[in-house]
Amino acid sequence: MRYLITGGAGFIGSHLAERLLLRGDHVVLLDNLSTGSVENIRHLKSNDRMQHHFDNIENRQLVAELVDDAEVIVHLAAAVGVKLIVESPVRTIETNVNGTQMILEAACKKRKLVLTASTSEVYGKNTNVPFHEDADLVLGATTKGRWSYAASKALDEFLALSYWKEKKLPVIVVRLFNTVGPRQTGRYGMVLPNFVKSALDRVPLQVYGNGKQSRCFCDVRDTVESLLRLMDTDKSIGEVVNVGNTEEVSIEALAQLVIQRTASSSTIQYIPYDKAYEPGFEDMMRRVPCVDKLHSLTGFRPHTPLNEIIDRVSAFFREKTVRRPAPPATLATSIGV
Ligand code: UDP
Repeated sequence: MRYLITGGAGFIGSHLAERLLLRGDHVVLLDNLSTGSVENIRHLKSNDRMQHHFDNIENRQLVAELVDDAEVIVHLAAAVGVKLIVESPVRTIETNVNGTQMILEAACKKRKLVLTASTSEVYGKNTNVPFHEDADLVLGATTKGRWSYAASKALDEFLALSYWKEKKLPVIVVRLFNTVGPRQTGRYGMVLPNFVKSALDRVPLQVYGNGKQSRCFCDVRDTVESLLRLMDTDKSIGEVVNVGNTEEVSIEALAQLVIQRTASSSTIQYIPYDKAYEPGFEDMMRRVPCVDKLHSLTGFRPHTPLNEIIDRVSAFFREKTVRRPAPPATLATSIGV
């Protein structure tokens, strides 16, 4: 099969591309490298079943060509990361809404299967965990920038489901819950890579708020397995499906666990939300998926234990540090170290 992955040089996209190539499929990646990176796919570039285009999803002609050539489209390109969203709300809304619209419109002409990535953020402030796919979405005020991400993704979901209902375009909507693993960068605020990096550097781990808020962390390998299985069954078409792990941990306990597993001497520093993000920032206290639907459609549930995930992420950052070249002696001298 021939897959087009938008956002293919991103964290999840690169892992998905790797798996597809391993099983013998053809993969075309489209990525503007805004949050993805060449580094993520360097090891795949020599594979003759892979092509890549470093361009914007707004390039209508290119998107039309790539969609035409593909049999299945996996739409992962989006503005992600709470920090990025709070700092660049215009980019978030435009990328997420326009990008999805472009893909659905192009795919519709030839009725290509589209799997589009949404997010657990859409459940917003709903406190009724675990979240079922048909639960109410409880978003905060439009004056609070964080909710623009959830709203833009909810609109993407409406659009995708409408293309299915009205135009019979086969779509699958997946709501991804905190996905983690090697290659994820902490640059856009994601907690686990930031904690692991701080622990390895022996600097304080910054816990936002009181740390009692909780999340469930899903290994990217389990996420990819779920996506592949969902795309391999017609039963998923027209459905919204949660993809996540159900092992819940508070952020404070996560920080302690990371310190313990990396044998770090780091301490924990508590930072008020106002300072970490922006005044008036609202977090969600718990976010736990119900994955019964994923299981009934695919026979699979994400299962990688948190300890193993933390070890994999720290191994990745350790290796990255080893590979990072030391600064040249002259530079070290010139800045007086
Ligand atoms: N968080 C934290 N320290 C960090 C980054 C994030 O305490 O360096 C918190 C954040 O406030 C949230 C949780 O960790 O409560 C998960 O944050 P992330 O941005 O990874 O994902 P979210 O679930 O908020 O989309």
